[in-house]
Amino acid sequence: MREELIQGLLDFLNASPTPFHATTSLAMRLEAAGYRHLDERAPWHLEAGGRYYVTRNDSSIIAFKLGNRPAVDGGIRLVGAHTDSPCLRVKPSPELQRQGYFQLGVEVYGGALLAPWFDRDLSLAGRVTYRRDGKVESQLIDFYQPIAVIPSLAIHLNREANQGWAINPQNELPPILAQLASSETADFRALLAEQLAMEHDFNPDAVLDYELSFYDTQSAAIVGLNQDFIASARLDNLLSCYAGLQALIDSDDEETCVLVCTDHEEVGSCSACGADGPFLEQVLRRALPGGDDFVRIIQRSLLVSADNAHGVHPNYADKHDGNHGPKLNAGPVIKINSNQRYATNSETAGFFRHLCLENEVPVQSFVVRSDMACGSTIGPITASQLGVRTVDIGLPTFAMHSIRELAGSHDVDHLVKVLTAFYSSPELP
Ligand SMILES: [Zn+2]
Repeated sequence: MREELIQGLLDFLNASPTPFHATTSLAMRLEAAGYRHLDERAPWHLEAGGRYYVTRNDSSIIAFKLGNRPAVDGGIRLVGAHTDSPCLRVKPSPELQRQGYFQLGVEVYGGALLAPWFDRDLSLAGRVTYRRDGKVESQLIDFYQPIAVIPSLAIHLNREANQGWAINPQNELPPILAQLASSETADFRALLAEQLAMEHDFNPDAVLDYELSFYDTQSAAIVGLNQDFIASARLDNLLSCYAGLQALIDSDDEETCVLVCTDHEEVGSCSACGADGPFLEQVLRRALPGGDDFVRIIQRSLLVSADNAHGVHPNYADKHDGNHGPKLNAGPVIKINSNQRYATNSETAGFFRHLCLENEVPVQSFVVRSDMACGSTIGPITASQLGVRTVDIGLPTFAMHSIRELAGSHDVDHLVKVLTAFYSSPELP
């Protein structure tokens, strides 16, 4: 079971270089588990015991199954995560021709750790919008192959490189795609038209616009002398999306369960499909009874907001509070911040801890050092949008927001186990 679970995670990570692809990967797995797609623009005819999913902007997804027990009696069980990760996005007029090289101008999406982007074999993926037979349509593309690289400057040309190096994203990040003869002119939209023809078998009349990001072509891998770790891009937060999905599929059918994975968390969640928008509430209002009953249901419900936590790094242990240094492979972390950067309270934390104890899952807690600023996530945003009780948790990781992050391989099992127990739990506090 464990090997299968880990292999499933690696496949999911490799198939999901962008939030668009992550949403597609989740949808495919939901379809295979009997979930049916609902179109937000069409009327819905939901059946008791039905399993459904909805996507918005092709980059956010909500899956739900209607339980045997009426939601007004039992509340609903929600798990939330996000589909996006920090990365480099291609600018609208990106072509640069300098020193005979074809480069693309990029914008930094989210709080990316920039140094690890150098000297990686990069590819490009995302969504392209085009005109075809007079209609405007969109498709996802993925070049798969390493088509670009951002070479470092040799240390001989910057002797101070190891003493601290400020990266200017405008000047230093444009990846190199090719060498061009002086007579050649780079045309990025023509390149995208070729890619659409190759991947989807048609020639667009014109490529109109796109949301494309670079990604590392090195596959996700199990690493360490004893296979203790998983190394991959986008573990924050596809690891939680995957664990939530597995738990939803593995849980029993008694309770109404929801998995919500939204885009734009890394830039504040404020969008039509982000956690700070109306997506979740609009779906729940259509899926659940209305009026008083809707409020009664939400007040009986609980959200587990799953997003990665910072494991204590042996080389930088003083970055953690001495009593709150989560270790990799020692279980999910309950994240607490009295200033509400996390939505956890004693009731929701206590319940999550109880679930872990009942299911023999180790559990840890995290609070940031009192002299450092605390991160945040979708938990407080969803709690304030919906008025639902929330606990913020996540698996401890290293190198968060790097192009290659590190998590504990045993923790995947831990998280799936406790989330499955949560979805199946007959009583909420
Ligand atoms: Zn995150």
